[in-house]
Parts: sequence; C-alpha cells; structure tokens
Amino acid sequence: MSRLHSPESGPRVQMEPNIFPKEGVVSLEMERFPKLTDVLAEARRVATFLWEKGWAEASGGNLSLDVTDAVGGVASAGADWTPLPRAYPSLAGRSFLVTGSGRRFRDFARQPEAHGVVLSLDAAGDRWARLWGGESPGFRPTSELPSHLAMQAHLRETARAERTVLHAHPTELIALSHLPAYKDEAALDDALWGMLPEVKIFLPRGVGLVPYALTGTEMLAQRSLAALERGHAVLLWEMHGALAVGRDPAEAFDRLDVANKAAAVLLKCLAAGVVPEGLGKTRLAELTQAFGLDEKIR
Ligand SMILES: [Zn+2]
Repeated sequence: MSRLHSPESGPRVQMEPNIFPKEGVVSLEMERFPKLTDVLAEARRVATFLWEKGWAEASGGNLSLDVTDAVGGVASAGADWTPLPRAYPSLAGRSFLVTGSGRRFRDFARQPEAHGVVLSLDAAGDRWARLWGGESPGFRPTSELPSHLAMQAHLRETARAERTVLHAHPTELIALSHLPAYKDEAALDDALWGMLPEVKIFLPRGVGLVPYALTGTEMLAQRSLAALERGHAVLLWEMHGALAVGRDPAEAFDRLDVANKAAAVLLKCLAAGVVPEGLGKTRLAELTQAFGLDEKIR
C-alpha cells in the first residue's frame, strides 16, 4: 500500500491500480470458472461504491446477478440441494451470483468467495446448490433470495435485457419517501425528472414507488414485482431503500445513482426554502424527442 501524504508534506497520492487484495481471489475454485473473474471484478467495484456512498451500512443491501454465461449451470449430481419455497421454471438450470445473508457489501468487495455465492437451480427450478463461494462459517444466501429469484424470473419471462437485481439504501431517496408530497408515484416522478435532464434520459419510465412492507416478506416481493411489471428499472421502497435492475451491476448502480442525485438536488432546494419548479413539461418533452426515449408505462 502506498502511504498517504498531505499536499504540503510530500508527493501526490498515487492510487493503487488494484484496490482489491489478492487474498480471496486465489480460491482454487476460480480455476474451474475462469470467466467468473471479470464478472466478479465489476460486482466488487459496485459493492465498494455502495459502501463509499453510504448506501450499504452494516449488512444493508443485497445483489443477484445471472452468471450462467460465465459458469454454466452445472451443479454436480452429488450436490447438496436446498429446496426453494416455490419453483422458478424459467430459471431452471441457471446460475446466480448472490450476496450472503447478514454480510456486508464492503466485505463482499474484499472477499467475494466468503461473503457471496454462485448457486445453480436444478432442472425443475425448485432447489439450488452451491457452485462457487460461500466459503465461510454459517454462510447462507441473502434472506431476500426468493424476491431476487422472482424478479430474475420476471425479467426473463418478459424478455427484458436486465440480469442484475441490486438493493441498497440510497440516503436521499429514502429521505424523500418520508415526505407526504412524494408518497404518490406520479408526483414523485414529475419532481425527480424535473431536477436535471439525466433523470429523464436514464429513467424515462420514472421510479416505481413501492409502499412500505416488512423486509423479507412475500408482500414486499409482490409489490416490487408489480412495480417491475409497470416497466420501472428503479423502485423506491418507502422508508427503506431502493432496488434497481440493470444489464450488469454497473448499469443497476448508475440507475440508482441518477435517481438519488435527483432526490438530493430536490432535498437541497427544499432545505433552501424553495419548492423547485423543475424543468417542466415542455423541456421534458423536448428531451424525450431528442433522445428517442421509451416512456411506455402506466
Ligand atoms: Zn434493505
């Protein structure tokens, strides 16, 4: 590690080209799945960003990513199968990288094989077996695994391109979900789109508002699925956090980042005592036309 120097006392700080220690990636199992390294690298970077942003305190947040193309769906015949609460036929034989229950994103970034797992569903899609990772005492996949699988199944069944489901706790979005004026999806989206052009460009269908439900429950999963079915790529879980889907972890992160930026700008305007007018319908329509945005929703 390079030492830190203040600008006055020494040379400029050099960034480490590789911020991750080699420990952990040298798992013997990596030899079985050489293509997994690149996929993991991106998931680890995003996990780091989430914690640095303050969106993944303690064990907050979780991730699932379809990695079938990188590892195949080949749990061995003697695998130790764990039943799922229901079958996911459209996910039969597919493999997912999933973060662990009660594990920190920042620990996953450092040692993904200890705090994450690649699991494979069997040919009926109603049980899973470990393919890679989960190499620490008491490891279990996230308790939100059924929700993640339900959303992954929906993405496949509707031929959407997204393969990552990412849940985190973006601060300003959560704060916004406490304000009565934004507990209505249309009002929330109009306000967020109005803050800066990128919101309309990255999230032309807006943010889906998911009314509060107890974490880890079927109710929260069903409400989230309903918002995904409306075509949203980012969901705001009222007074809890947010969930984004993306083709890869970076895209899911970008979508959260853009939505949270808008929420942060809105809160700053409100803190300054101003309810901002925003870009307004004419400028938003101009963006839709200029960028050929697909707003098909609701
Ligand atoms: Zn959460």
